[in-house]
Amino acid sequence: MNNQTDSGKSHVFHFFLNRKYVSIASGKGVYIYDDQGNRYLDASGGPILCSLGHGLEEMADVINEQARKLVYVHRVDFTNPPLEEASRKLCEASNFVMDKVFFVSGGTEAIEIGIKIARKYHLDNGKPSKSRVISRWQSYHGSTAGALAWTGATARRNDFMPYLHDFNHIPPAYCYRCWFNKTPDNCDLDCANALENEIMCLGPDNVSVFLAEPVSGMALCGAVPPEGYFERIREICDKYDVLLMFDEVMTGAGRTGKMFAYEHFNVVPDILALGKGLSGGYFPIGATAVPQFIHDKIASNSGVFGAGHSWGGNPLGCSVVSKTLDYIKEHDLVERSHTLGEYLNNKLDKLRAHPLVGDVRGLGLMRGIEFVQDKTTKKPFEKSLGFSSRVSAACLEKGMFVEYSSGCDRGQAGDMVMLGPPFIITEEQIDSAVQILEQVLDQDLLSSDR
Ligand code: PLP
Repeated sequence: MNNQTDSGKSHVFHFFLNRKYVSIASGKGVYIYDDQGNRYLDASGGPILCSLGHGLEEMADVINEQARKLVYVHRVDFTNPPLEEASRKLCEASNFVMDKVFFVSGGTEAIEIGIKIARKYHLDNGKPSKSRVISRWQSYHGSTAGALAWTGATARRNDFMPYLHDFNHIPPAYCYRCWFNKTPDNCDLDCANALENEIMCLGPDNVSVFLAEPVSGMALCGAVPPEGYFERIREICDKYDVLLMFDEVMTGAGRTGKMFAYEHFNVVPDILALGKGLSGGYFPIGATAVPQFIHDKIASNSGVFGAGHSWGGNPLGCSVVSKTLDYIKEHDLVERSHTLGEYLNNKLDKLRAHPLVGDVRGLGLMRGIEFVQDKTTKKPFEKSLGFSSRVSAACLEKGMFVEYSSGCDRGQAGDMVMLGPPFIITEEQIDSAVQILEQVLDQDLLSSDR
């Protein structure tokens, strides 16, 4: 249907095809503004992505300057100064735990490249049978056929199962609803030991890599593993020559109050996938980083990594990454994410006591809230109610955007929302975000008019 008077709204193919979407026309700091001039506090920075805040002149200038100089050159044939600078700065940000960086266009591609690097490493190490990927249920790793197959959030996978290879998943580290019915007092790290069982079932010679989010993203909104979890995982990976890959697409670049979330857990991964906040929210870019030994193995054997994407390593995106890393450093934003994250966590104490709130969790400026029908039994709301979507819609009516998730159908989880604002958020803005959530939870969210 051709509607000549429509500005274009009717031609957009949306995620939720029947929803009435608000059109956002501009942003400044932690606020976004719709095309009618209404202001919304961006309490989740989009999907926990806009880490520097909206409308930064310095970012616009970098994009402008680089666009005038050079936007594109093919990485297969050439290198370019912004690519080199961003690679060095990213390795430096990891204190050179990582030595080589492969830039791509977003988080999903970073995951795909990481899994392929693992495969190439084993091939070039004379172990061609090592190809299986183990990941976790109630996880999210992206939306291509590969990344969805490794994803454990079944709701995201179900419609596309005919395209997904059958990979192996183990239970998540989800202490609020432990899959092994343990509590922190009697935790034996069964969720970590499950990796060893899975490797033994598949045969260690067949397993390439274990993939996990160090702090869970939207599938479990901020679930933090129990103490010792990743140390045990690292031990198991080392024992069976299985590479450890961290999906830090959401947690990387300062989000959890450390530059990378693995720094909380006393381990280093063999492969690190990044996206989202890597460009502060100013350019669609992702990266996969590895230590020297992984790169050396491939370099000294086949010498070819025949994977990649046309836009990977483009100078425009890389100039934004360098600027983002500089900006984070100059403004001490990793520390700010930690201190403001603690402030937010303390403010959320009020919500912890709310009868509909089962759990509040997370690190830094990445805090998830899980809702329940019954606090004692932890019974979640019926999925068909769309409780968290009602919370998010009610917040929007009050001038705040918050990202939500309706849990998973493989393994129980309640409805959730995730607060992940830009790092520049102030204490006063956090107070008003929490206040809006409180007001919303005290409304009749279950009414059939919603
Ligand atoms: N991994 C995690 C943990 C994510 O949260 C996401 C996106 O939400 C992805 C991977 C995929 O990233 P992208 O949407 O940039 O492809």
